[in-house]
Formats: sequence, structure tokens, C-alpha cells
Amino acid sequence: MTDRLYYTDPHCREFDAVVARVERRDGRTVVMLDRTSFYPTSGGQPFDVGTLGGVRVIDVVDDEEGEVLHVVEDSVGADLGRPDAQPLQVGQRVHGVIDWPRRFDHMQQHTGQHVLSAAFDRLFGARTVSFHLGADVSTIDLARELKAADIAVAETEANRIVWEDRPVAIRFADAKEAEALRLRKPSAREGTLRLIDVEEFDLSACGGTHVARTGGIGIIAIASWERFKGGQRLEFLCGGRALAGFRSQRDTLSAATGLLSVSATEMPTAIERLLADAKDQKRAGTALQMELARYRGAELAASAEATDRGRLVARAIDADAGGLKSLAASITASPGHIAVLVSTSTPALVVVARSAGVNVKANVVLAALTSRFGGRGGGKPELAQGGGLNAPAKQILEVARAALLE
Ligand SMILES: [Zn+2]
Repeated sequence: MTDRLYYTDPHCREFDAVVARVERRDGRTVVMLDRTSFYPTSGGQPFDVGTLGGVRVIDVVDDEEGEVLHVVEDSVGADLGRPDAQPLQVGQRVHGVIDWPRRFDHMQQHTGQHVLSAAFDRLFGARTVSFHLGADVSTIDLARELKAADIAVAETEANRIVWEDRPVAIRFADAKEAEALRLRKPSAREGTLRLIDVEEFDLSACGGTHVARTGGIGIIAIASWERFKGGQRLEFLCGGRALAGFRSQRDTLSAATGLLSVSATEMPTAIERLLADAKDQKRAGTALQMELARYRGAELAASAEATDRGRLVARAIDADAGGLKSLAASITASPGHIAVLVSTSTPALVVVARSAGVNVKANVVLAALTSRFGGRGGGKPELAQGGGLNAPAKQILEVARAALLE
């Protein structure tokens, strides 16, 4: 079994050890040591990275036999021009260095989690059922849902404990001793338990790494919450992550307030006003478009050419489907008219319409066009529309004219 130095000294950043085994597992080189400061992924806390004798450690895994497996980068031997050389040999003394900023970040988040979970437990009897320390944010899942005001109370209480800078002690106890102590969550582990004791606030069995005093957490900030599996999932940031989160939000907010020329507190009102303005403008725009279609329609109807079937308006128009349709409706509002309107865009949109009583079937004309030029559409004898026709407007209009007058 590997001697885990972080159990008793989580602040140990560098150490010396002897290589016990070097193996290939699942295509990766793993190194086992007699002792290590490297933390393997477990209990919601991710692994440490760093170097062993100058070789990069890229993953650390806990195996079933209690060994800590250091997965090391393979390219090192090759870089030295010894493709088959094992960079680390059994029996060799190596110096290990862990990536301290990464580890300390994990310690801040993990200790913060103990304090935050204890605050929810003590104030509201809301138990933490799960914890995840992610690359950007961490989450705890509470067994039941709390109101925003209660979440704020627990957050304040947790930060009071942080700012009182209470000691965070590591204690060991066997299962029987642990039973007599009041652990926040009963442990299912056999043998010696490692307990994390936040003075007069929280006692939990945990194998992770923690700061030595609560002040090291810096701050605990709850970022968001949502309903989750009958309870609640809360995202939180501690210490350096809380500062990074604050900076990111500050930059986003300052960009937004700059655009709107308002202060941060005026933002919601300013956005509401913008949305209301946009809605009004859209309504006014639609009314104007309809008004315009009526005038253009009347104008086009006046210039229609006389045919055996009625007064025909066959035109290419720069408009979308809605625009073509309202224009066609406006033309055929006058008696005795037929409208064939094709968009200038390709593939083309087509609207065919006729006034009441005119002997033309708009849907039949449209079917002739789609069978010739592709696309799809349909409608009724008085109005039909289609899209996706692959031809220039001029050609579509010629074929429509032929179909109408045949
Ligand atoms: Zn812990």
C-alpha cells in the first residue's frame, strides 16, 4: 500500500520517494511509489498533476489494492532518443512535485464544501447527498429544496465560519469511536476513519485534501441553484474561483452597461424598456407593410394586362413570402384580377391568386410550376403558394402565363 503523505500533511508540495513498480495498464505507463503526495481522483475531488523525477504526471488513480497509480507521460523516453527506455526504474529515488495552484484550488473548493454542507445541515436539516468538484464550478446536491432566502442565510453562515478562521484538524478514529462522535454523515467504511474536524462546526469522514484553517477558503459564493432529483443542485465557487467568477461577471456587466449607457442596477429596467420598444416597432412595421401592400397592390392592379381569363398581374417582386401574399391579396381585392408574383430570390417563392368569380385555378397553376421547376407548395383555387423553385423569376413567369392562358 502506498503511504499517502497528504493524509497527514495536505500542504506537502514536494517529496522524495522510491519507485516500487512501473507497469503498462490500458496502454498507459503507471508508476507506483512507496509514498506519495499526489492525490488520486476520489470523493468528488479530482487528481493532482505535477512531475516525478521531471516526468509529467497526467493522471492519478486509486486502485482496488490501496495503491496510488501515477500515470506518466510516455513521450519522455522518446524525447531523450531512447524510445524503449523506461524513464523511471524500479528502486530509483525520485523527487515528486505537485502542481500547487491546482491542488490549492481543490483544497479551497473541498473545504468550502464541508463548511457549506454543514451550514445547510445545521440551519435547515438539509443533507448533502452528493458533491462534485468540477473544472470550473463545483456542485452540492441537497436532499430537499430550499427557498432563495434560506440559501442566502446558509451562505452567510458559511462565510462567518470562513472569516472566523477556525482550525480544520485531521483526526483518525476506528468505526466504534466514530459512532460515539457525531459525524454529519455516517460512514460506511471499515477500519480506521480519517475525520475532518472544522472546529465546533463540522465533523465528517473524508479522504480528501483541505486547508488547515477555514480562512484559507477565502470566500464561499453560491452561483446558482436548480431543482434536481426531488431536491436541489447548487453551484458554488470558493476562494480564487469566486474572485475569477466575480471578474468575469464584472467584465460582462460592464460591457452591457456600456452599450446601454446605464448603471448596473438600472440594467433590468433598461432591458425591459428596449424589449417593449422593439415590440412596438414591430407592430408599427407590420401595420406599415400592410398599408404599403394595399397601395402597391392597387398600383399593380391598375397596370394589369387584359387577357381572356381576366386582368393579369405577373411580376417579379423583391419580397418575402408574407410580402408576396399580402400584395397578391391586395391585387385580387379588385374584381376580375389574377396575380402571379415571384420573388427575385433563388430558389424562388411563388404566390398565385385570383379575384372571386375568375375562372382560374391557382393551385393547378402552381402545380404546373413546381412540376417544372421543383420546390413544393399548394393551396386552393383562389390562392396557392410555393417555394424552392429553381429558376429565374422571368422563366417562371413565362411558364405561369402559358399555364394560365392555355
Ligand atoms: Zn473533504
